[in-house]
Amino acid sequence: MVIESTAEPFVQKPQTLAALRDEIAAGRTKAADLASTYYERIAAINPQLNVYLSLTRDRALEQAQRIDAIAAKGDPLPILAGIPVGIKDVLVMRGASSTAGSKILEGYHPPYDATVVTRLEAAGAVLLGKLNCDEFAMGSSTENSAFGPVRNPHDLERVPGGSSGGSAAAVAANLAVATLGSDTGGSIRQPASFCGVVGVLPTYGRVSRYGLIAFASSLDRVGPFAANVRDAATMLGVIAGHDPRDATSSPAPLPDYAAQCDKPVEGLRIGIPAEYFGEGLDPEVRAAIELGIAALEAAGCKTRPVSLPHTRYAIPTYYLVATAEASANLARFDGVRYGYRSTASESLSAMYRHSRDEGFGAEVKRRILLGTYALSAGYYDAYYLKAQKVRRLLAGEFLRAFAEVDAIVTPTAPTPAFKLGEKTGDPLAMYLADIYTVTASLAGICGVTVPCGNTRAGLPIGMQVLARHFNESTAFRVARAVEASEAS
Ligand code: GLN
Repeated sequence: MVIESTAEPFVQKPQTLAALRDEIAAGRTKAADLASTYYERIAAINPQLNVYLSLTRDRALEQAQRIDAIAAKGDPLPILAGIPVGIKDVLVMRGASSTAGSKILEGYHPPYDATVVTRLEAAGAVLLGKLNCDEFAMGSSTENSAFGPVRNPHDLERVPGGSSGGSAAAVAANLAVATLGSDTGGSIRQPASFCGVVGVLPTYGRVSRYGLIAFASSLDRVGPFAANVRDAATMLGVIAGHDPRDATSSPAPLPDYAAQCDKPVEGLRIGIPAEYFGEGLDPEVRAAIELGIAALEAAGCKTRPVSLPHTRYAIPTYYLVATAEASANLARFDGVRYGYRSTASESLSAMYRHSRDEGFGAEVKRRILLGTYALSAGYYDAYYLKAQKVRRLLAGEFLRAFAEVDAIVTPTAPTPAFKLGEKTGDPLAMYLADIYTVTASLAGICGVTVPCGNTRAGLPIGMQVLARHFNESTAFRVARAVEASEAS
């Protein structure tokens, strides 16, 4: 199939969430019509982009009609009333296909909803369907999906990033007003930056993981994508908060994120870590981020250097911790309890073996092998335990830096979106796409990526704004200041 590499008509900015909601509340737009319009656009361009893996049309239309009935009565509407939202396929929805991008989960229809799904629907959102991603969220390009890669709406020859590539591309192409993704080492921030949208890494514990198909439980986070900072903040406000069904969920009070976005940034102290501006950083990305930093200074922020020297160990540390946890989490996929079962099974153990062999893709197998190795007797101390110690040192460095600054800004990724196939033969090159994002994952802190200029070829560049635990509001404020400046 020959696909023309043109930005049109794939890139399209959705209306803001607040504007759409007002339209619906005033009865000028029917939620059901809006959902139908989105389904038409999906039918028209999803075949080229491969963003949605499945649609939840009946459930979406039922919810839209419920919203329209409330609007017709003139009763008050919840904050996301009628807003079309897409869900990464690692989050479960009752009765809906939930594959995590893996063949091994084909045919699995979970009997329950993820907490974030319940919360979105309670807030009035209309959930359109499930979004493509790297298998079990392992990857940086969405090329590891068992159902084919997602294409970047800005250039169909390029990847949208990963693993939440479908979630990022859906917003960039206006196939949803906002979406949810998951981020273990960068899977929300990196694709958001590649697709020119806003992505949020909430603090670990801020958003419930109940109903998230686990990759690496001590790192996994659920967070939103949106076309602008305020919409992303509104989405986070809906999905965040304590959930007794997730033992790591925090009871910390929830601020009004959307209201905090527009607070002036004057006087905020911004740290710039030299470790994120060294070798391997694309010169166009560097120039764009420097312009973004200058815009923050012009808005009254005080910038200063901070040091995060353990950054150089972050990739190996992440790939030890994440693979170790993945090897344990993925043990449950045995051909018995979920999805795919091999028919070539002369005995029980052969059935386990064949189901896993045929059901998992190459990257997932690589990670299970690496993780099992790192956890095995004799290697545990040398690899896994050492990685945990480095993780602790890295987290300590961030805490020390945050004693001096309110936020840290960096490029989100070292390069703009790369070409499909460019890194598939070299796992290490693919892992390096996360060099600036895995650190915050290991430290448990929060961050936002915001569009910050384009390359000469028109590819989006993202700035990552990191803040201390449970300080999403500060990250939103800084991101909003960049968004409001010429640098965006
Ligand atoms: N790209 C990283 C990995 O492959 C991060 C993925 C993620 O955040 N889920 O592990």
